Amino acid sequence: MLFAQIPGLTEIKQTLIQSVHNNHVAHAQLFAGTSGSAAFHLALAYATFINCEDKQTNDACGRCPSCIKYSKLIHPDLHLLFPVANTDAVKDATADALLPAFRELVQERFFFSFQDWIEKLDVENKQLTIKVEESRTIIKKISLKAYEAEYKVVLIWLQELMGTEGSNALLKSLEEPPAKTIFLLVSEQPDKLLTTILSRTQRITVRPFTDAEISSFLMDHKQVSAADATRIAYLANGNIVEALRLMSDEEQDYESKVKQWLRVCYTGNIPEMIQWSETFSASPRENQKSILQFALSIFRDSLMYKEVGTNLIRLDSTENDLISKMSAVIDFDKVAKMNTSLNDAYAQVERNINSKLVFLDTSFQLFKIFKSVT
Ligand SMILES: [Zn+2]
Repeated sequence: MLFAQIPGLTEIKQTLIQSVHNNHVAHAQLFAGTSGSAAFHLALAYATFINCEDKQTNDACGRCPSCIKYSKLIHPDLHLLFPVANTDAVKDATADALLPAFRELVQERFFFSFQDWIEKLDVENKQLTIKVEESRTIIKKISLKAYEAEYKVVLIWLQELMGTEGSNALLKSLEEPPAKTIFLLVSEQPDKLLTTILSRTQRITVRPFTDAEISSFLMDHKQVSAADATRIAYLANGNIVEALRLMSDEEQDYESKVKQWLRVCYTGNIPEMIQWSETFSASPRENQKSILQFALSIFRDSLMYKEVGTNLIRLDSTENDLISKMSAVIDFDKVAKMNTSLNDAYAQVERNINSKLVFLDTSFQLFKIFKSVT
């Protein structure tokens, strides 16, 4: 993980980076940040940076063997601990046994919450903990020489879920770790940690993201419009996992509406056309434009599907279904006419023309184009 992959938080990144440049890396640090903060990510980016073989001024190189192994969480000198519970597949759960699932979560989601981890393991009704045996295993592992890195790193996600016995077992190592060993503890609830843990770690307070950091992340990396990004950032309240959830809820929601609308346009059901025109016209103007744009993209993808197959388009399975059906009833001429119709509607929505009429008129036009013989 690179610092560059984490939005904003410049001042915290700089403190961490400088500690490495100045050779002041504390051997036990606590990254404290609420759920949906970047506490885990900063700890991981820090560990990546410390072990990078070609450090840049403000980040790890991302290309050396160490960075590549860190990015996949497969570095032999990175020891990860996180809360676990027995799953259907793993009866005697340990962090080692569930590491493949944890790697998948980080790769798939990038930002994730404890709840996401519970869902990933499908252990909703179980208590997840970091067991005392895990502390003992880690202590044994770090007593050995590093395999290839300069520093062995122990990264513990959600230290508050390690019991008293396990935490006590760690104390000696936190105080006097073996040579070239760094402990990075991550906690969402540092007030639940033993004072003996708190007193032995240097605390890095990871503040929540600002609204500006979240909205630029959504615009730059998730293709969210400025208006939507601002609104989502406001609702997410500094929690990036929540922001991403809101984003995908909204996307799915209006995607499914557009798909239903296009089906109605195809069948020519007039009462339903009127209903959808009312529904769409009641949504904010920015959303109305997104609806038309999304319809445009569906026709474009359907034509592409018809011409070249699925290879060139990126689709999920539900989209694929609609697009393959759509591709059977359109052709180049029809898509060209639909484009014109949707682009006209877009311009009219922008000019504040009564959008209920615009959507109804567009629905009729699409119906006529679907049925036309070319
Ligand atoms: Zn590197």
